[in-house]
Amino acid sequence: MKLIFEKGAPGQHLTLMPPCDVPEVKLSHPRTEPLDLPHVSETELTRHYTALAKRVHGVNDGFYPLGSCTMKYNPKINEDMAALPGFTQIHPLQPEETVQGCLEVFHESEKLLGEITGMDAMTFQPAAGAHGEFTGLLLIKAYHAHRNDAARTKIIVPDSAHGTNPASAVMAGFTVVNIPSSEDGCVDVEALRKAVGPDTAGLMLTNPNTVGIFDKNILEITRIVHDAGGLCYYDGANLNAVMGVVRPGDMGFDVIHLNLHKTFSTPHGGGGPGSGAVGCKEFLRCFLPGPVVTRDESGYHMVSPEHSIGRIKDFYGNFLVVVRALTYVLTLGREGIPEAAKNAVLNANYMMKLLSEKYAMAYAGPCMHEFVMTLTDLHDGTGVSAMDIAKGLLDHGIHPPTMYFPLIVHEALMIEPTETESQETMDEVCKVFLELWDLAHENPQALHDAPTKTPVRRLDEVGAARNPVLRYTKG
Ligand SMILES: *Cc1c(COP(=O)(O)O)cnc(C)c1O
Repeated sequence: MKLIFEKGAPGQHLTLMPPCDVPEVKLSHPRTEPLDLPHVSETELTRHYTALAKRVHGVNDGFYPLGSCTMKYNPKINEDMAALPGFTQIHPLQPEETVQGCLEVFHESEKLLGEITGMDAMTFQPAAGAHGEFTGLLLIKAYHAHRNDAARTKIIVPDSAHGTNPASAVMAGFTVVNIPSSEDGCVDVEALRKAVGPDTAGLMLTNPNTVGIFDKNILEITRIVHDAGGLCYYDGANLNAVMGVVRPGDMGFDVIHLNLHKTFSTPHGGGGPGSGAVGCKEFLRCFLPGPVVTRDESGYHMVSPEHSIGRIKDFYGNFLVVVRALTYVLTLGREGIPEAAKNAVLNANYMMKLLSEKYAMAYAGPCMHEFVMTLTDLHDGTGVSAMDIAKGLLDHGIHPPTMYFPLIVHEALMIEPTETESQETMDEVCKVFLELWDLAHENPQALHDAPTKTPVRRLDEVGAARNPVLRYTKG
């Protein structure tokens, strides 16, 4: 497929700019050569993007069980709300009295998401989950620094954590202490007991963890960390499994981040705007990034908390993602939120059960919102790998599950159906999975050759990672 720069010809054009309605200003260093922009008509531009869109697989195209990413259906009412001119036709530097409605969105979202998580305060500045982790860890760091406790330099991270957890801890200037999981996929409590001490700044727990298990020792885990003087961080990107059912704030956690673009239903996966909202307990409120929204008799105001860690992003974060999240919470309501979580768990267990007919599970069920299969036996017996099965799914219009993650499971496929898939869809998808298993035994070569029906065949992924071509040279 041609790039937009390779299409069109000089003379073809479209005009998208409205007439200038402000005084013109002379630039001190104007460009001396014209910009090298594509010369295409509006028709051609539209066709170009439509062709690109057809090559992409999204939740509106078909099943998308990308574990840990919560690729659920995003209700279109969210988009209607996020497109309202009162939310889009504003400027971030407008005086606060002219954007009271927008500030109310933040204030209401803080209240409702605080209720769902059991937290007292929240910032919406972080632009993604990992960004939220970084922010939350800086709160923990500020807390210890404020108490003049310089010895607390270590963050404990179980090996079943999401990969961003140790990375964020290092970014925030901590040393990571890795602790193993026990047989059942939960934190090894004895290993945790040994790991904590006067140098413990905190623990980061992904819960449900990356193998889809809710840690049964969670209360003991937070107690051990608190007794040692550390704080507890809850990676709540997987809140889809528990929202409205249990609250991290009640389990002893002090800080949490949410992935509004996963659980609270904003389209994601294409690198678009996200929101890694960070919630905390009252005693950490004074460290939150500024500005935060407060309310008094005269209305809503933006203030910087007393000991703020400073800005984490320009302005207030990705505001329209918060509008979508608030819309989602208000449409589902008190009954709908836990119902969505329970259905997410039910769907995952339904698929886990159907697939257990042939596929080996990494951990015995029941699972939470996702489960992990291990294809080592299939690989040893037939030479067909988890990668081959994933590529085989592509020929059936199914997006592959997360592959080779978590690292603690070999030949892993991690499946998260989400609550928005019907039983019929899951039945069909499971049928395909089971047929691929049979095909692996009958004709493994067919799976090594997959995919055959996609716009491109199997790509050299190692080459793409090792020798990436990141610059486009014209001509
Ligand atoms: C997706 C995810 C993250 C990272 O979120 P991003 O928005 O991709 O930065 C962190 N933790 C868990 C458990 C996740 O599933």
